[in-house]
Amino acid sequence: MKNSFICLKCNSERVLEVIGSNMNQYQKIPLNKWSIKNAVLDRYICADCGYTEEFVQLSESFQKWADKILDRDGGNNDGFV
Ligand SMILES: [Zn+2]
Repeated sequence: MKNSFICLKCNSERVLEVIGSNMNQYQKIPLNKWSIKNAVLDRYICADCGYTEEFVQLSESFQKWADKILDRDGGNNDGFV
């Protein structure tokens, strides 16, 4: 959907792209307990059936966070650093 702009559910070509902004709290997911670090989401929305897809913007801070999580050996796995 992100690349094709064709809905995966109904094959509609009426797919809207909503690029996330750091200024909009509804377009972010927290990467730590105090929401100091956030990942910003881009959304793709089908205008015919309402299906949505979300992609995290692959920023440098997101990659650092992901590397920390992926390097962790077991233990606390709540997604927070
Ligand atoms: Zn659709």
